[in-house]
Amino acid sequence: MIKKIVSNVYKLVLSSNIYFLDLNKKIIIDTGDRKDRGDVKLWLSKLVDFERVDVVIFTHLHYDHTGNADLFSNAEFYASKKAVEDLEKVGVGAVLNKQITTILRKIEIKPLPKKLSVLRVIETPGHTAGSVCLLYEKEKVLFSGDTVFDNNILGRVDLPTSKPEKMSESLMNLVSYDFKHLCPGHDCEAKPVPKFIKKAGLEKKFGY
Ligand SMILES: [Zn+2]
Repeated sequence: MIKKIVSNVYKLVLSSNIYFLDLNKKIIIDTGDRKDRGDVKLWLSKLVDFERVDVVIFTHLHYDHTGNADLFSNAEFYASKKAVEDLEKVGVGAVLNKQITTILRKIEIKPLPKKLSVLRVIETPGHTAGSVCLLYEKEKVLFSGDTVFDNNILGRVDLPTSKPEKMSESLMNLVSYDFKHLCPGHDCEAKPVPKFIKKAGLEKKFGY
């Protein structure tokens, strides 16, 4: 399913979301999980001819965000310098999937500058050491990868390249930016509060 976020910015809602910015450069943010490849081809091709994508940016290199990178044969690929280093040094631990690690190692992934086209790059180590968020300042759209999701849900910090000790600092930095639209890597349902917790007034204690 395709959702329009603001003019020329689209979200392809799958198990891992893909974003498309149809600006003077055609930009894809994250390429989704390979298991969704059929849907990626079906839906994304309604928005853009894959050969015409100029830039692919990865918020981080986990397999469910990079799984269809090889659909974009003419694009330049970017991820943070740290993410690229971890792909080399840590390998599968940085991607969490052997097949996708092999695919990514064959692609030239360039280190992200501080600003790329309309997007400001904000380094947010935590979920992975090399995680970034991307801010489209003019439209106040934040692409947050797996750092933060809707409903105040945060990304996991217990994975091989996670930096749990950096997460709170990254979040504090992130909230200092002005954004109106949160575009996370996955859509999360709000956790329903179990009745007995509600009844006892213990929502806060249990993190709801
Ligand atoms: Zn991830």
